[in-house]
Amino acid sequence: MDVVPKKKWQYPIAVERDYAKWLVAYVDKEMEIVESFLPEMADSVYRNSIRQDAIGDWLGNLVDKVGRAIKQKLSALPVINRTFKLTDRHVKEQLNGIEESLFGVRTRRPYDTHQLEMIKTIWTSQNLALIKSIDQQVLDGIRYALSQRIIRTVGHDQTVSDLADDIQRLGGATRKRAMLIAVDQVGKLHSQIAHYRQFNSGIERYIWVTRLDNRVRPRHKVRHGVSYRWDNPPPDGHPGWPIRCRCVAQPLYNLDSFKLTPRKGTFTENEKRGIMAVNINGIGEARIPVAKITQYVLHPENSKGKDVAFKSALGYDQNNAMKLIENVERNINSGVITERPQTKYGKPMQIALKLTGPNGKTANVITGWIMDAETKEVRLTSMYVKSPKQGGSTNGSKGV
Ligand SMILES: [Zn+2]
Repeated sequence: MDVVPKKKWQYPIAVERDYAKWLVAYVDKEMEIVESFLPEMADSVYRNSIRQDAIGDWLGNLVDKVGRAIKQKLSALPVINRTFKLTDRHVKEQLNGIEESLFGVRTRRPYDTHQLEMIKTIWTSQNLALIKSIDQQVLDGIRYALSQRIIRTVGHDQTVSDLADDIQRLGGATRKRAMLIAVDQVGKLHSQIAHYRQFNSGIERYIWVTRLDNRVRPRHKVRHGVSYRWDNPPPDGHPGWPIRCRCVAQPLYNLDSFKLTPRKGTFTENEKRGIMAVNINGIGEARIPVAKITQYVLHPENSKGKDVAFKSALGYDQNNAMKLIENVERNINSGVITERPQTKYGKPMQIALKLTGPNGKTANVITGWIMDAETKEVRLTSMYVKSPKQGGSTNGSKGV
């Protein structure tokens, strides 16, 4: 049985704010350095606008000089390291908090720390590169301002105040970009570490949770409450990965593998009305409504005999319906896809799978899907065991 903890996984807003604040302060300091060169810049522009020779030389040299001063005085590495540590701590606190509330204890499993080191190395170098690109944006902006000011020659004092305006504008645009970078990077890091720590704790799937406000992108809005496998991400990635996504992954605990008893009132069951998402190569994100399996495919009265075939061919019935869904999810990308002609409801497709059931037997299972004509959403519509003798569908235990 899968249970959803009532205690909610939180987005690391404090870490995001901290990093954004620091990056903006970095730009402030950077602009101060630029401003300290203002007299020299104005002098050069004024002098060279009269001479107008060797423009490239002095301009390039001056910009290089500013660049060297920035490099000498500012370093981003300590804050990048701190942000990593804070994000990781946040994830550990979320996981510990949820497990303590659910089971009264924390689950302990061996972690592959090499993987976390990899995440750290890649994230660190990416952030160093982004901050370098902020520096470059500033230097390019100065170069552009100087070359523009030299074309429109004005008096010396006017040049000073014009350049001061240019620097101010440049600072504003750079601060804005720094803030976007901070928000996006903390979201991406949180997404990766949550994935790493949840998956290594034995959590195989999660429920996609949005902020439920009007800033949530439509594509994510429809994912709210749907469960995903950590090893089968949707095309644009797990929660928090797409640019500026604030969604989170609420862990699902499979009690068969955790073998712990959750405390009363700390969880809800996920099975009855759940929707599972699976990413199918060449098709994209698809939905499996659990009720379709429990109330139709494996239901003794509603399935028109399909249930008998599943029981005898593979060993599935209503009691282990979730195992059948997991089996389909795990094997979906090794199936053979057959597309059917478009109808007014959408585009039907069949995916033929070879599944091995809990009884140790292997059988061919045909899964039916439809891409909704209106919403373009792909969902499971039917499933049956294909008879090995007849080669066609079976409506009962005959031929199995
Ligand atoms: Zn989102």
